[in-house]
Amino acid sequence: IYAADTVPELLKRGADDAPAIAAPGRAPLTHAGLRALVARTVAALNAMGIGRNDRVAMVLPNGPEMAAAFVSVASGATTAPLNPGYRAEEFEFYLSDLDAKCLVILQGMDSPARAVAAARGIPVVELVPAGAAGAFTLVPASPLSGTPAYPGLAQAQDVALVLHTSGTTSRPKIVPLRQINVTASAYHIGDCLALTPADTCLNIMPLFHIHGLIAAVLSSLAAGASVSCTPGFNAFKFFAWFDEVRPSWFTAVPTMHQALLSLAGRNKEIIAKGRLRFIRSSSASLPPQVMTALEETFGVPVIEAYGMTEASHQMASNPLPPRPHHAGSVGLAAGPEIAIMDDDGTILPPGGLGEVVIRGRNVTAGYENNPDANAKAFTNGWFRTGDQGTLDEAGYLRLTGRLKEIINRGGEKVSPLEVDAVMMDHPAVAQVVTFGMPHSKLGEEVAAAVVLRDGAALDEHGLRDFCAERLAQFKVPRKIVFLAEIPKGATGKLQRIGLAAKLGLSA
Ligand code: ATP
Ligand code: MG
Repeated sequence: IYAADTVPELLKRGADDAPAIAAPGRAPLTHAGLRALVARTVAALNAMGIGRNDRVAMVLPNGPEMAAAFVSVASGATTAPLNPGYRAEEFEFYLSDLDAKCLVILQGMDSPARAVAAARGIPVVELVPAGAAGAFTLVPASPLSGTPAYPGLAQAQDVALVLHTSGTTSRPKIVPLRQINVTASAYHIGDCLALTPADTCLNIMPLFHIHGLIAAVLSSLAAGASVSCTPGFNAFKFFAWFDEVRPSWFTAVPTMHQALLSLAGRNKEIIAKGRLRFIRSSSASLPPQVMTALEETFGVPVIEAYGMTEASHQMASNPLPPRPHHAGSVGLAAGPEIAIMDDDGTILPPGGLGEVVIRGRNVTAGYENNPDANAKAFTNGWFRTGDQGTLDEAGYLRLTGRLKEIINRGGEKVSPLEVDAVMMDHPAVAQVVTFGMPHSKLGEEVAAAVVLRDGAALDEHGLRDFCAERLAQFKVPRKIVFLAEIPKGATGKLQRIGLAAKLGLSA
């Protein structure tokens, strides 16, 4: 399935006249147009003294230019996309961490990144949109010249992309991903979703995160298909985009799917005349109830996949029908090899509960400047994901939570995902997050934050009684708080770690 091992080679698949990168309301960039843009961009970077393995930080709004800049810059240098929403201190942290050779930023975009780059002597290069969706030219803010050590097109072992992990469990770590890693992942995704040039993905994921970059953009381009890039997730605009673009699929995190479901009722006609083939969900656990509701509402299979930055996104995925896809399972290995390891580094037989470990072509060679993290992450050639789970005889993987999120209630381990699933079965519950709160005697006690459905009434006692009928007593949340919204990270993920402190909870 590996038709190429570099981004510029991967881009050769698409037919010249077929759309590659598009956006609602704009003329698309064709595959031939994208290939020409890539050649121009690599030449322009080389003329500025930037070549292979040199780092180009990018601060761009979500959209087609960001997608095109990602693949163009990755074809001859290393891209480091940053969240354009960061504040000055965050840009300080990320830009100093990265050792960037230049900062590419949208022309006219007001961002603290400019002042931070200036203070650090990092040259600024303006990205000027040019016509079709995604097309652009690069214009240095002040004259920039030089001879790169390694000019020309990227090679398989070059670093294509540098990202920080989402920071859900600790300070974000730098993950360098090579050309061979990201291209492998793009092909794995295309393979398990059976992507063809006829497909169109509607991208609503942020393009400073691995999920959108690889699953939506790179896998589409590798298949010779197209990706239509929105300015970012907006549940209220989604159905107008959906109506115009008529995508064959989209991929998102569960909190986005939940937001779409809440508005789907008044958009039934738009959904009915769509040409959707499937919906993909990844990056956090999809409650089975949400999966069922999505399948009923959109009338297509929902494919849950398991991804992480360190694996260039995808590790496992449910297969498309007629092969079975299971609610509550992240599916079969769909990229790297997957095994379950116990604390001593022993690989467990099917049914064993332990840490999910992976190895394969799409997995990073290691975190940057972080020997401690690397020593902990690699055992006998396996990369430890930090997630806990179990594989069944047929190879389907079930996750029970992140190891750091497993609640230790005086020695009794509670899977927050199991408690979430029970509470989601209550008709009044729209969203829930179970987490550990500090407890003076037990160390940790089970707590949960809940968002109720519009107009629903339910109190803490009612919900605890509901749980007590379905869960062993020690798993029933001792404290349940009701919120209008549960805090999310920049990529739309709910954050369990630190939630107790954020909400001021302890017992
Ligand atoms: P950090 O590593 O900085 O704490 P993060 O792990 O959230 O942040 P990402 O690389 O974006 O950063 O996320 C990968 C993690 O997301 C996985 O290790 C896993 O815990 C979780 N995840 C991804 N897909 C799923 C899924 N389908 N079901 C449950 N969890 C998932
Ligand atoms: Mg992680």
